[in-house]
Order: sequence, then C-alpha cells, then structure tokens
Amino acid sequence: MKIICIGRNYLDHVREMENEVPRYPVFFMKSSNALLPEGKDFNLPDFSHEIHYEGELVIRLGKRGKNISLTEAEKNIDAITVGIDFTARDLQRQCIELGEPWEIAKSFDHSAAIGSFIPYTPQPYHFVLYKNEKMVQQSSSAQLIFSFSELISYVSTYITLEAGDVIFTGTPAGVGLVQSGDILKGYVNDMLLLTVRVK
Ligand code: MN
Repeated sequence: MKIICIGRNYLDHVREMENEVPRYPVFFMKSSNALLPEGKDFNLPDFSHEIHYEGELVIRLGKRGKNISLTEAEKNIDAITVGIDFTARDLQRQCIELGEPWEIAKSFDHSAAIGSFIPYTPQPYHFVLYKNEKMVQQSSSAQLIFSFSELISYVSTYITLEAGDVIFTGTPAGVGLVQSGDILKGYVNDMLLLTVRVK
C-alpha cells in the first residue's frame, strides 16, 4: 500500500504558507508504517516540538493503473474519507532551508491518520476538521487547485497506482499545532469518519 500526499492544492493554504501557486501537482510519499488506522491514538514523537495537523480528503484507488487518462481517472477511485497529514513543521522548515528531502518531517511512523472509508460517487465532497470541538479547517473538493482526476492522472504518469493505494489530496487553510490531550474529529459531508486522540 502506498500513501501519496499532495502539497499546495488549496489557494488559501498556499497563501498562509507564503508559497507560490503550483503549475503542476506537487506530491510526496509516506511509507506504509506511517498509517494510523481509525480509532488509534496519535503519540507525539519526541524528535519534534511542532507537530501540525493537516486535515485532508483522502481517496482510495480501486484498481491498478499506469498513465491513467484524465477522462478515465475518476473511475479508479473506489472510496473516500478524511485523514490527517501529521507534519513536523520545525523539521520541515529545516529540510526546506537546507534543500533536503522531507521524509523526517512527513513520513514518520503514524503520521498518516486515515478515517473510515465511504464508497465514492462523483459529487463535491465537503469536509471539516474539529480540534477539541472547535472547527479549525473546512473546505470542499470543489476548491481543489488540481481535481482528483488530475491528481490520479499526473501521479500515474510516474508511478503505477495499485488497488488500495491512497492519496491525501492536500490541506486547506487553518493548519496548526497539536498538543497532548487534543482530540481531532474529521467529517465528510457531515459524517463523522475520523477521531484521533493526541497523547
Ligand atoms: Mn498535507
């Protein structure tokens, strides 16, 4: 199972991070050890003092594909949920400054929380992330810079996508710190699909 993550895919988040608007999808990967299944607690790692949540729509591929065309891409999605791309922001800043890869900041164990999947049908998906009962992020697949189809088609140009692979499709504005005791809840179209306790 591959975990592919898209960076900079909502304008409001690009602006809050003071990044350039991308001309093509930017992606990176997390290892399968990064998976934090629904219902499991997230333990803050001791190598970072600045772990951020990034709430994201997560799509799952239902079949294998390579060089998937834009028109066929959406048929490859079999399920959708919300996830959290946990990010060691302090380490990420350091990696960016030094021009180093991001893995220590993005691909550490349990850095990819994934909610319960629901079957995918083509429609706009709205999602919301709450931290301790306060809404901290919300957006819709209609706001994506690069659509699900564009992401699948682009990534599959370089990497064969397999059934069961997942794509974190990017985070909107509102990313922020997590601390021990926080409870994160993610909703898609008003359905609670993800609960993560931070320890
Ligand atoms: Mn992200």
